[in-house]
Amino acid sequence: MPAVATARTVAELRSHVAKWREAGERIALVPTMGALHAGHLSLVTLARSKADRVVVSIFVNPIQFGPREDFNTYPREEASDLDKLAKAGADLVFLPDAAEMYPEGFSTRVKVFDLTDDLCGAARPNHFEGVATVVTKLLLQAGPDLAVFGEKDYQQLLVVKRLVRDLDIPVEIVGAPVVREEDGLALSSRNVYLSPDERKTAPLLYRTISEVAADLAKGEGADAAALAGRFKLEAAGFRVDYVAVRDPDTLKPLSGPVKPGARVLAAAHLGKTRLIDNVAVPARA
Ligand code: AMP
Repeated sequence: MPAVATARTVAELRSHVAKWREAGERIALVPTMGALHAGHLSLVTLARSKADRVVVSIFVNPIQFGPREDFNTYPREEASDLDKLAKAGADLVFLPDAAEMYPEGFSTRVKVFDLTDDLCGAARPNHFEGVATVVTKLLLQAGPDLAVFGEKDYQQLLVVKRLVRDLDIPVEIVGAPVVREEDGLALSSRNVYLSPDERKTAPLLYRTISEVAADLAKGEGADAAALAGRFKLEAAGFRVDYVAVRDPDTLKPLSGPVKPGARVLAAAHLGKTRLIDNVAVPARA
């Protein structure tokens, strides 16, 4: 298997992309923080199906981590990531370092209001500003026709869609479904932090929000269903940030009976690991 091409500077990235543009090719970008798993690779596969060329970025973005979060310990696995991306059919991997992305004197932030006020925005102050800033930079650096983001980070997907619309960035944002372990746990680079016992408990997050979604589909009110979900998680030992029932486009809180497609979102800690997940409310059986 030949090695996948890499670029470590914006200039190198742009020279690859310029050649493809000249040839009239359609280009997709898949932004990641590395430590790649099958969830990330599903984004590459989806990108492949929609474009001639796929660029994957790997950058552990310091400005989206809080001071007490896991920036220093976040898994970094460049060699095996490059191997996986060669096999998955990526054309180019962009691996900038922090100085390339944030040179001396960098002083700009992109902030999406409203959508970032609560849920993960409340639990992680400045997180979405960091995400919006780096995604804006990556989109301007690569200039792709489309960029693929996972529904695993549902609030992030909506934030990216909103900033692209608001800033008139000419790119299509494509959402990809959550890839899960057999027991339902959403794949995440952070799952390696879980102890064996926590790993056994972790699938309860997905099971619980799926039960909340099923109760909502039967007509139960949003507040009661979300509260029942919170209690179930707390009883199993999770420290819960939120279990919430929201409008799937605006993330506005819903109460009373909800329509199919409403989103159930949750974030909860098991030990030192923060897990997030979300599901859509199914149509009534
Ligand atoms: P990350 O490396 O965690 O920043 O994730 C990079 C991209 O992969 C984001 O768009 C995530 O939403 C997406 N992603 C992460 N985990 C999954 C998963 N289990 N299923 C689908 N997409 C995922």
